[in-house]
Amino acid sequence: MSPNEATITLPNNKTIKTPTGLFINNEFVDSVDGKRFETINPVTEKIITTVAEASEKDVDIAVDAAEKAFNEAWRYFTGVQRCKLLNKLADLMERDLDELAALESLDNGKTYKESKETDLSMSIEVYRYYAGCYTRHEPIGVCAAIIPWNFPLMMQAWKLGPALACGNTIVLKTSEYTPLTALKVAALIKEAGFPKGVVNILSGYGKPAGSAMAYHMKIDKIAFTGSTVTGKYILKASSESNLKKVTLELGGKSPNIILADADLEEAVKWAHSGIFFNHGQCCCAGSRVYVENSVYNKFINKFKEHTEKMKVGDPFENDTYQGPVVSKIQFDRVMGYIETGKKEGATCLMGGDRHGKEGYFIKPTIFTDKEEMTIMQEEIFGPVVAISKFNTIEEVIEKAHMTTYGLAAAVFTKDVSRAIKISNELKAGTVWVNLYNTFDSYSPFGGFKQSGIGRELGKYALKEYTQVKTVQINL
Ligand code: NAD
Repeated sequence: MSPNEATITLPNNKTIKTPTGLFINNEFVDSVDGKRFETINPVTEKIITTVAEASEKDVDIAVDAAEKAFNEAWRYFTGVQRCKLLNKLADLMERDLDELAALESLDNGKTYKESKETDLSMSIEVYRYYAGCYTRHEPIGVCAAIIPWNFPLMMQAWKLGPALACGNTIVLKTSEYTPLTALKVAALIKEAGFPKGVVNILSGYGKPAGSAMAYHMKIDKIAFTGSTVTGKYILKASSESNLKKVTLELGGKSPNIILADADLEEAVKWAHSGIFFNHGQCCCAGSRVYVENSVYNKFINKFKEHTEKMKVGDPFENDTYQGPVVSKIQFDRVMGYIETGKKEGATCLMGGDRHGKEGYFIKPTIFTDKEEMTIMQEEIFGPVVAISKFNTIEEVIEKAHMTTYGLAAAVFTKDVSRAIKISNELKAGTVWVNLYNTFDSYSPFGGFKQSGIGRELGKYALKEYTQVKTVQINL
């Protein structure tokens, strides 16, 4: 078998063949220096397979391929031709839904149900949404995308959909923790009939590959999703190289505000999924919950009761709500925050420990009763929530603004005018009222403050992937 294809055995003993090379010019190839790295199953802590690792030279080769494809082919495709191909890709992803969902769960640890019903369903919707869009402005040229590990398929769709619909070519680097599904989609991109070089997918690390992309002189635009620290690095790299356009989708520490008049059962349900969906590994996770004093005790009792019912375990079992976090590094990081919470004097109402002996499982953890603590300020990116109380709206808005982030927020109340008033006050790119974590292809997503620059999804993303030209003619 080619080293750039692996046969992977699933927990149900079915096997999947999947590419493991760099995807450049519609071929799966070795890296120039032949380097490979391992990708680990977070349930068993064992190697799934190895994939080719992109070096700086590979980035150059992928950029050259994207540049050639842009200049010679893709920019001359009509909107209709591009849209047909995006729709075809969505059809092929639907055809291979089960395989893609299984691979995503294996690589990332998220539940199979969630991979199928959330990640794949939204990825396909995004490709179809952008297949319906047409170009009114000029494409930018060669775009780059660097994505994280928490939603590998979805982040790929959010980047490729608008970039391709607008007529750009692209070089995308996946996270070193989850390289597999993007390569599987690359095989479908080839099968759909996209011209070679239009989409190039690199597996590799932040350094050298990601950094080489950020500094590359022939990349015209870079779209990054990941941590604020790396986002700042990308912006600096752009200013020190060719001033490539930059969009950043960064971290968050989102406040979730529960007023006393809220439907408490509903608020508990949404606040729970707000933090524990995808094991807390969401940039917009509702990791700070503020509850109005008069219903505080009732809320935390119900919240704990609800959380206790949610099963932690094998991502491939249908009734599992929470699988392992993605990697050993992430496991140690989250456990470190839990220790800090305990040391700083917060009450650990539930969890606070690993689950089981093997795999990167962490018990759903609830901290209460202390606000001036690190875990109320910093993004943990794991199944850990801090719950606190407030007395007035002014007070809770002030508390909501206590962090450097501004990605999302939520309010639970039956009083629509109070909901609107609070939504208007909150410094957040998305405010949910009486729900949490809902997304669609039409609604723009992005951050205020240090949560990012620019927007993804909807028509706003089209602006980020096109440029306006004024032509004045003296006839
Ligand atoms: P990260 O910043 O460590 O890595 C993200 C990506 O950047 C990876 O592909 C990594 O290889 C690459 N990278 C790392 N260093 C780099 C460098 N110097 N130059 C170029 N590329 C580099 O983040 P992560 O741990 O993978 O993801 C978690 C973070 O992503 C969290 O902070 C989370 O909030 C954020 N996130 C944000 C959104 C959003 O839409 N706002 C969505 C998902 C995740």
